[in-house]
Amino acid sequence: MSETAAPAAPAAPKEKKPNHNEEIKTAIPTLAGTLAATLADPALDRFSEDDQQFMKFHGIYQQDDRDLRKTGKKFIFMIRGRIPGGVLSPKGYLVYDDLATKYGNNTLRITSRQSFQFHGVVKTGLGPLMKKINDSMMDTLAACGDVNRNVMSPPAPVASAQHAQLLADATRVSEALLPKTKAYHSIWVEGVQLNLEDPANKDFVDPLYGRTYLPRKFKVAFALQPVNDVDILTNCLGYIAIEEGGKITGYNLTVGGGQGRAHGNTETYPRIADVIAFVSPEQLIAVSRGVLTVHRDFGDRTDRKHARLKYVLEEKGAAWFRDELEARLGYKLADAKPFKFERQGDTFDWGQALDGSSYLGLYVETGRVKNKDGYKLKTALRAIVEKYQTEVRLTPSQNLILANIKPADKAAITALLAEHGIPVENQANAIRRASMACPSMPTCGLGLAESERYMPTLLTRIEESLATLGLADEEIIIRMTGCPNGCARPYMAEIGFVGKGPGRYQLWLGGNANCTRLNKVWRDLVKDPDIITELQPLFARWKAERIGGTERFGDWVARVLWKEAPAPAPAAVAS
Ligand code: SF4
Repeated sequence: MSETAAPAAPAAPKEKKPNHNEEIKTAIPTLAGTLAATLADPALDRFSEDDQQFMKFHGIYQQDDRDLRKTGKKFIFMIRGRIPGGVLSPKGYLVYDDLATKYGNNTLRITSRQSFQFHGVVKTGLGPLMKKINDSMMDTLAACGDVNRNVMSPPAPVASAQHAQLLADATRVSEALLPKTKAYHSIWVEGVQLNLEDPANKDFVDPLYGRTYLPRKFKVAFALQPVNDVDILTNCLGYIAIEEGGKITGYNLTVGGGQGRAHGNTETYPRIADVIAFVSPEQLIAVSRGVLTVHRDFGDRTDRKHARLKYVLEEKGAAWFRDELEARLGYKLADAKPFKFERQGDTFDWGQALDGSSYLGLYVETGRVKNKDGYKLKTALRAIVEKYQTEVRLTPSQNLILANIKPADKAAITALLAEHGIPVENQANAIRRASMACPSMPTCGLGLAESERYMPTLLTRIEESLATLGLADEEIIIRMTGCPNGCARPYMAEIGFVGKGPGRYQLWLGGNANCTRLNKVWRDLVKDPDIITELQPLFARWKAERIGGTERFGDWVARVLWKEAPAPAPAAVAS
């Protein structure tokens, strides 16, 4: 190059391409794919890669039984219900129970978002199961996919008028954020493949979501102080009820929470939501749609791992977000009000609702409603719901509540549960009651390590470890997931286990009692036999150093351990 030659212009930054999911949503905005045609073809036991993406919007994941992979893939389906607030009528519960027996693996899995999942459904059972759910006036629409998911609400059954209002508002928001595609009804109710060449389908644009829906999933929850049972700050959009004079006057709006991350990817991290403003009940729907459309318009459509609303908040800031939302609404929002949470989790005993009816909180180990030797939970629940017509409410911590019970029936229900091996008093110790695990193996295709199947035995070992120190009755919130996606919200736990490989877990420590503080990674790769070796000395120090003899484990970790040996930033942990 001569000395007088002009310097070359810097190369323009390469524009990132929309990811493949964006291309297929653009191509088939009804989300119909070729699902009905494949469903009707008896020669096929699975759906194409693209159809698997469309199916998620209909509440269905194609999976394969990972225990059987050595002998070839057996394709199975997971189907998740849309159950706002987790409330099922007696009739609705019995439909779920029937379908799990007939088409699933004879279990029902309570999710961490107050829904039920069927596991192990084969293709021939998929159509009849979906039709029956819809014929029973329930649905699975938008239970997965790049849309708003199941809306959460405090599960306690009308323990106060406030609970009832939250459930009604949660249901309103769930309905308002549903996609309008005709494909769901056409495929699963009528069994008809939409004509994709029909201009009405080809040019379909959803009035809320647009042609390409959201860049990723969107999660909404409602919380009632002082109990943070819905883990409100882990949601994309949260509403914290504000009461004055015993009445809910509105909600603090929280935006930009989320748990999922990817091992070794510094662009991804768990995040707790920002508190943005105060919203009146009348503003709820417009605000919900406004928040959702900010995600729609500003979320990353090039990298699905970086596509959640939380990254928009992190990168643009809460002040920017509020301005953007207010511009869309056309009015200013009031400032958020003070609020306080005292604890998370469920209660496990008899309670009384406003109308005088009774309800019963039941512990469900790792959220799995099933029968096993000496513990026939599935059979017992069916018998109770059939005979006493109890409502069933699913909790965000994967337990359930039987509600609408006549006080006179309490003794008979207690006896019926006992006959099936289920105690009403002392249902589980403090550690188990505060625990959660995601399903992972053998059904989830993303699982790197066991979770649901492993957690109960690990809890036994942790209990034994605590018992040797005289700490057997202490509550520690322990959550486990088989991969970093964080379905059981492990990054809010006092002890979080995140699968990294078979029998290997990242150990995250330092969440708090009301789930308002993120924990931090403490050890990157702990093998199963070493877990207790890691934890036991920490438990011993906690016992010796805890303030007032009552400080929680997570608070001691944050006060002492984090200062002594600052944990590496989560994203800096190598994969
Ligand atoms: Fe699957 Fe990971 Fe979710 Fe567990 S956390 S259910 S392994 S995606």
